[in-house]
Amino acid sequence: NRVPLIAGNWKMHTTYDEAVSLAEAYRERLAQLEGVECALIPPYPWIVPLAEKLEGSTLVLGAQNCATIDQGALTGEVSARMLAPFCRYVIVGHSERRHQLGESDEMVAAKLQAAVRNGLSPILCVGELLAERDQGLAERVVERQLGSALEALEAAHLTRLVIAYEPVWAIGTGRPATPSDAQAIAACIREWIAQRFGSDLAATVRIQYGGSVNAGNAADFLQLPDIDGALVGGASLDVEQFCEIVRVAR
Ligand code: 13P
Repeated sequence: NRVPLIAGNWKMHTTYDEAVSLAEAYRERLAQLEGVECALIPPYPWIVPLAEKLEGSTLVLGAQNCATIDQGALTGEVSARMLAPFCRYVIVGHSERRHQLGESDEMVAAKLQAAVRNGLSPILCVGELLAERDQGLAERVVERQLGSALEALEAAHLTRLVIAYEPVWAIGTGRPATPSDAQAIAACIREWIAQRFGSDLAATVRIQYGGSVNAGNAADFLQLPDIDGALVGGASLDVEQFCEIVRVAR
């Protein structure tokens, strides 16, 4: 009964014109969505114009990041409060921000709180580095990231939480996790949530897989019992690929 969420993270790609063409193509091609939710997650400056283009459609928007606080002297930051009128989702803790932009577990936790405080649904990204997987530490790393990010989360906000398991070594490499590894970590995430919040609430939380998902492999992940969608990077910039991923999720 968890509706799968297919989210396209455009990262720092697209010109304004490309963003508008993509959104118009998705609006037309993904008009009647049933049994699946689809979110487009463009760069910040395209959010407001795309919200206008997507008015009345079933597609929803997300943001790729938000600030830790709602307003203040933080040059260059964009707050969840500013995003909330235009977005349903906001990605927090993407590995590119954790590992290339120095985002700490504490910052991720504050961003998650900012998201729920402003009525957004956070897509919390967790995932291990290759060296951590090789040392058998994947589960421990993911549990540490969950523990820190969800420490202050109230149970009342849990139903809007989405967790994306994105092993860092699978992102943008064309080398996805095996479905059985993805299922194992997703089950471990759900079990961790059940221990903390109870199994009824844990059963409502959607867990996505992300990392080199494409039209050819999406079905392998989407059929797994604890995987409820995909966080798609590169393939979300390709209309044929992304529409096929949404199709197989239904
Ligand atoms: P790719 O699908 O390009 O591997 O990116 C995954 C990702 O990081 C989505 O957030």
